[in-house]
Amino acid sequence: MRIIVKNVTLVDGLTVKEDHDLYIKDGVIACISPCISPIKVNSDDIEESHVVQIIDGAGKIAFPGFVNAHTHLSMVLFRGLADDLPLKEWLEKEIWPIEKNLKPQEVYWFALLGIAEMIRSGTTAFADMYFYMDEVARAVEESGMRALLACGIIAESYDAHGRKEIETARNLIVDWHGKANGRINVALAPHAPYTCGCEILEKTRDIAVSAGVMIHTHLSETADEVKRSYADLGMSPVKYLASLDLFSVPILAAHCVHVNEEDIALLAEHNVMVVHNPTSNAKLASGIAPVMQMKAVGVNVALGTDGAASNNNLDMLEEMRLATLLQKVTTKDPTTIPAIEALRMATCSGATAIGIGELAGTLTVGKRADIVLMDIDKVNMLPSYDYISDLVYAANSQAITDVIVDGQIVMERGNLTTIDEERVKAKARELSVGYRK
Ligand SMILES: [Zn+2]
Repeated sequence: MRIIVKNVTLVDGLTVKEDHDLYIKDGVIACISPCISPIKVNSDDIEESHVVQIIDGAGKIAFPGFVNAHTHLSMVLFRGLADDLPLKEWLEKEIWPIEKNLKPQEVYWFALLGIAEMIRSGTTAFADMYFYMDEVARAVEESGMRALLACGIIAESYDAHGRKEIETARNLIVDWHGKANGRINVALAPHAPYTCGCEILEKTRDIAVSAGVMIHTHLSETADEVKRSYADLGMSPVKYLASLDLFSVPILAAHCVHVNEEDIALLAEHNVMVVHNPTSNAKLASGIAPVMQMKAVGVNVALGTDGAASNNNLDMLEEMRLATLLQKVTTKDPTTIPAIEALRMATCSGATAIGIGELAGTLTVGKRADIVLMDIDKVNMLPSYDYISDLVYAANSQAITDVIVDGQIVMERGNLTTIDEERVKAKARELSVGYRK
């Protein structure tokens, strides 16, 4: 499919270009120019000129799709089921017992519900860690989304259970890595240093090296986790993973809320990709990650929503805004994380973090076309002095009109094109009946 977005204002973490046209060919941003003629772009095969779809971008901004760099997509099933609890109690008493009985079809339908929510709020790529990941992969393939998927591994040792966990994770790599026209990549996801034994962590490291895939894990999320790590291992969780050589593999580390100076130096030295989840950390009262300190020494910090059970939505506009506001509060400095920096964290830093920095994250000729259009002719957006400020501080997802992933329109004028939204909503209502308290 060929698409021309006409007369749109292009906004990304690098630049703002008013009144430009953007031409998408074979899934790639082929040209950005003040004026692109549909006839001219088809001069090599004029017969096909009728297949060029024109999108009127007047009164809209186009920005790179958000990258939600840490989530547990199908947990939208548990949205609102167990709120206002500390992480340990929330996980051990509420979430893990019900997850034990989770069924594959629930993971599939709630993955679709989550993807629909993400598309509607401008996300075009995400990093997910959960169970029955074949079902999530199927939902990603069908919906046209882009994702880094991983089976969450929880195992104390490489016993029968541990072997099964590793085998399931390895199979996902074999079955899905690089699939769906390259939209799906697979990582290995030992859940956290405190839920996986060192044998398991070393095993995931070795498989990640041999398969050439990333590791996705939770790291230093709560003060309690760090306290226990010192008590049990005599070192911080960050130092522990470094000592096991986990950082020799490209690694995505969610949270890093409770990291000291030595930890931050290790994260920078090993190019660990940190994912900041401000809403989830606030809701579970885990704390506020020292984003400024990490960025100051060159750590790439992306943004994520975490699962919807601890958020309770998947809206990256909210994460962007909260990320900058919380850093301003903790540093007592309003110049901290200006709007453009927050936008970069949600787009290009996210793309780099999940290993697709060459493909996405900016509106650059030659990159894959992962693009969101937003109507800025809105009462909460006008008078449009500064498009980046409006996007970060004023916008809400209701203004998003069109979403393109890998050159395919997945939302057109407010309607999802690859997902039967009414059917997914009906399934979500039907499958959630047994979970009601
Ligand atoms: Zn998480």
